[in-house]
Amino acid sequence: MSNLTRRHFLGLAAGTAAVGIAGYYFLAPKAKKKVVIIGGGAGGVIAAKYIRKAVNMIDVTLIEPNKHYHTCFMSNEVLAGTRSIDSIKFSYDKLSSQYGINMVYDTAIGIEANTKTVRLQGGTTIPYDRLIVSPGVDFQWDAIDGHDESLIEKIPHAWKAGSQTVAILLQFVSPPVSHFLWKVVRIFLTKIPHLWHLQRIPLRNKVLVC
Ligand SMILES: Cc1cc2nc3c(=O)[nH]c(=O)nc-3n(C[C@H](O)[C@H](O)[C@H](O)COP(=O)(O)OP(=O)(O)OC[C@H]3O[C@@H](n4cnc5c(N)ncnc54)[C@H](O)[C@@H]3O)c2cc1C
Repeated sequence: MSNLTRRHFLGLAAGTAAVGIAGYYFLAPKAKKKVVIIGGGAGGVIAAKYIRKAVNMIDVTLIEPNKHYHTCFMSNEVLAGTRSIDSIKFSYDKLSSQYGINMVYDTAIGIEANTKTVRLQGGTTIPYDRLIVSPGVDFQWDAIDGHDESLIEKIPHAWKAGSQTVAILLQFVSPPVSHFLWKVVRIFLTKIPHLWHLQRIPLRNKVLVC
């Protein structure tokens, strides 16, 4: 009887120790792991949001120079006149208030892999455990002789939505001739495809930019 009691006692003691060690492992306060994301476009924002949703214990910082993001997707509808430029403009406020993501409005100018830090134009340095680099694409303005950034108002690219989308839109609608041509293009795009395809294909907003 006394052996059985001792065995029970030892088992109980070992179990308690294991639970204690496991409990300590899971409950002991640990420094939060830091994920830093460069670029608050579609890619960076989706990464930030879903990391926070999946693991609340991870500290997520998003670095983005602009306070608002205009989506390229649906910008064709702005050109077609079926939605406003403001309807494709998004702020980052909800990321902070709803998902607890730290927003840093600055431009990353360097990554120090050895020290695991990102240098910002504003002069600060942000440490990370894991880094996601999602800055999108950009132009090499000097790649074509005779072309440079000063031409983007005359020859808008609209590769980045926002002011460039508006610049193209203005070229369609500002002078009377452009306005007339734009009407012709719209009639062509909205009516004729329906006739050609005998209304079997649903109408989409497509814009021809010459
Ligand atoms: C006209 C047009 C229409 C499109 N339509 C569609 C569509 O209908 N459907 C679709 O799926 N896709 C569409 N796309 C493609 C889609 O827009 C891109 O695939 C998407 O935007 C890419 O997301 P991203 O986050 O990689 O880059 P981006 O959206 O370009 O975002 C990059 C972000 O990084 C920031 N950044 C850059 N450098 C730094 C730095 N050094 N430090 C900090 N931040 C930095 C920028 O400010 C920017 O906010 C379209 C594209 C265009 C041009």
